[in-house]
Amino acid sequence: MKVLIVGSGGREHALAWKCAQSPKVSEVLVAPGNGGTAIEPRVRNVNVAAEDVPGLVTLAKMERVGLTIIGPEGPLVAGVVDAFAAAGLRCFGPRQAAAQLEGSKAFTKEFLKRHGIPTAAYATFTRETFDADWVRQQRTPIVVKASGLAAGKGVVIVDSAEEAISVAQSMFGGQFGSAGDQVVIEEFLPGEEASFIVMSDGKNILTFATSQDHKRLRDADAGPNTGGMGAYSPAPVVDRAMHERIMREVIEPTIRGLAKDGTPYTGFLYAGIMVHPDGTPNVLEYNCRFGDPETQPIMMRLKGDLVELCDAALDKRLDAVHADWDDRAALGVVLAAEGYPDTVRKGDVIKGLDAAGKLPGKVFHAGTKAAGGGVVVSGGRVLCAVGLGGSVSAAQAQAYALVDKISWAGMQCRRDIGFRAIERERSDKK
Ligand code: AMP
Repeated sequence: MKVLIVGSGGREHALAWKCAQSPKVSEVLVAPGNGGTAIEPRVRNVNVAAEDVPGLVTLAKMERVGLTIIGPEGPLVAGVVDAFAAAGLRCFGPRQAAAQLEGSKAFTKEFLKRHGIPTAAYATFTRETFDADWVRQQRTPIVVKASGLAAGKGVVIVDSAEEAISVAQSMFGGQFGSAGDQVVIEEFLPGEEASFIVMSDGKNILTFATSQDHKRLRDADAGPNTGGMGAYSPAPVVDRAMHERIMREVIEPTIRGLAKDGTPYTGFLYAGIMVHPDGTPNVLEYNCRFGDPETQPIMMRLKGDLVELCDAALDKRLDAVHADWDDRAALGVVLAAEGYPDTVRKGDVIKGLDAAGKLPGKVFHAGTKAAGGGVVVSGGRVLCAVGLGGSVSAAQAQAYALVDKISWAGMQCRRDIGFRAIERERSDKK
């Protein structure tokens, strides 16, 4: 069977690499892919953009693709799964109506409230209904969110009501295009974040290994927010008791609620959770796809066949399969281009990939492309170096051994990915 992966990031490289290991799979196509998927064994890039829904349907038909897995949220929110279903093609991901969980924060907050799922107190406004006095009555810090898709940049945490008002007004003014037509303003929640990722077939739920990512650009979680500078799995903040709580209070009522609302959810569902110091697992956001960079360490730990799991979900028999996980921890460090997360410098040749390829672990590509016999930088997040180890510290050491082989002009990365888990490991040993 041929599998098609849609997207061009590190997540898609990891998904393609994993699917290519399936005994059921003859070839993995990636549309459009990157410099890493171009050289991965049994993987072939095809020049169709991830947002080109008719082009993807035509490609899947022409190549007789047996299973398509969508990486990024854009095509899901645009209805790619509905278009594939209408053409009689198997495509793993939520339909457009269910993908609103990521496509509209206003929809999600209202859904969470209606189904009694814990989340920060909030209000939703349009330019017409905006109430600056309400904002002035709230406690600070306070969080302002553009409701629609804003490439991870639509959330701003501010220390004063006046700043919140000005951020909301620039969102209404078109800073994020139509994504800012509605703005959610919510209470700031203290605590520790964790990513909780499951697969659902509309009714049954298969939980994936837990993970935690680092969104800030610089060490010690300082600097601006980014798409993610590294991630590790498992996340020690989600112990067995917290796992059960998140399933019971968040994931199960979400899947049940969506089915009850007539929009059953098939696909990966990613809950961004803030574990409050009192233990409450609050939903910060939902993503209707796998996380990036969480996918990279999680795929390194998945021992089973991802294609088999996606097939089972599409056939609504997820209750008949299970996922086995490597007991070791996995940790991924993102190597980013100069200037990231703003305008980045592109075109530099990446050195040391061959040397890194000889070491244990795996370097997944994201913003790279093949050029002149080498691989050059073509995007903000360029590579993700993943190590495995008997502890998060050991996985971190393996990941940084890969990082230290690689270089290009202006390369930047954090040196402390996993620090919270490593602090826990150290205090557990004492
Ligand atoms: P979101 O895209 O909604 O997950 O927000 C991006 C990031 O902003 C999250 O990963 C959190 O670090 C932070 N954040 C969002 N909402 C809140 C909140 N209510 N309280 C504290 N931090 C938040």
